[in-house]
Amino acid sequence: MITDRHRRPLGSLRVSVTDRCNLRCRYCMPEEHYTWLPRQSILTFEETTRLVTIFAGLGVTKLRLTGGEPLLRHDLPRAVAMLRTVPGIRDFAMTTNAVLLGRFAGDLKTAGLGRLTVSLDTLRAERFKAFAGRGRHADVIDGIRAAEEAGFTGTKLNAVIVRGVNDDELVDLVAFGRSHSIEVRFIEYMDVGGATQWSFGDVVSRAEMLERLEPALGPIEPVQDGGTQRAPADRFRLDDGTTFGIIASTTAPFCSDCDRSRITADGLWFTCLYAVDGVDLKGPLRTGATDDDIAALIHDRWTARRERGAEERLAVSERGPLYQVEGLRVDPHREMHTRGG
Ligand code: SAM
Ligand code: SF4
Repeated sequence: MITDRHRRPLGSLRVSVTDRCNLRCRYCMPEEHYTWLPRQSILTFEETTRLVTIFAGLGVTKLRLTGGEPLLRHDLPRAVAMLRTVPGIRDFAMTTNAVLLGRFAGDLKTAGLGRLTVSLDTLRAERFKAFAGRGRHADVIDGIRAAEEAGFTGTKLNAVIVRGVNDDELVDLVAFGRSHSIEVRFIEYMDVGGATQWSFGDVVSRAEMLERLEPALGPIEPVQDGGTQRAPADRFRLDDGTTFGIIASTTAPFCSDCDRSRITADGLWFTCLYAVDGVDLKGPLRTGATDDDIAALIHDRWTARRERGAEERLAVSERGPLYQVEGLRVDPHREMHTRGG
């Protein structure tokens, strides 16, 4: 196991398989047009599998596919079938908006995907259309049902809470999760690249969420994990046993415990969501580097890692969006949908 300058292990890897998306969530991709990564730059499944194998050799045990919308990547179940065979990966998950999950849930399960996280911010179809820019709410609900039918268990539901948009649905979302045996995780709105409409006033903090949930749901107890989990969500339990989580990345960042890094679809490796630069892994992959060469590159970068991006953002006094649109156009790698959420 290798650790960084803050003794954080290299544990969890998120692989973005495409920067494209079929939604336009206002906190992630509010623009109608984007500059996409050139097709020839996108890693093949063979290249991705090779990289993941090298990372696993350095200690990565948790793998998550993400995007953009991962289900837009052609033939994704084939990638899943390849990646499931990588030695050392104990937890293999995917984050998806579920628009296409109805079509692919069965194939993903057969191919060996372990778990799913579905992103859904509202239970109201009209609101979804306004929030995500596309009227695909019914497809998402179908996708969630298809995942259950395909036999996925331990599914989680991510909901980004934005003040004045969906903060009146906290209780309804918990109830939805309970009825589908899905654990809901409320995510504080983050000022990541892409969130050009972000303002601190739109963030609903963990403390406020709990204050608003308790009168409707009764006593809320924190779930103690015995310090064994590096998961970013603080988990809570209701009297009836229902659990939910809150990811307070904006008001209470978990940098001190962050073992995550991310590979973009074109092979740039980022060791913090807020990092300015990534390490190019595609270049070495395509110019004859050996696995040992690439492992050495990863080792050197990780052992020098000092980033605590979300904590540094918390210290900024006049906080606004991380980038304006023009800043994002300079380099699409700054976008959340390119880095992978
Ligand atoms: N398209 C897939 C999806 O939406 O699940 C995967 C990629 S998406 C970038 C991954 C996660 O990042 C989603 O759960 C999304 O809600 C979250 N996300 C995107 N922008 C965010 C923001 N500004 N603040 C908090 N979470 C955000
Ligand atoms: Fe697409 Fe996911 Fe970003 Fe929404 S959060 S725009 S679904 S990548």
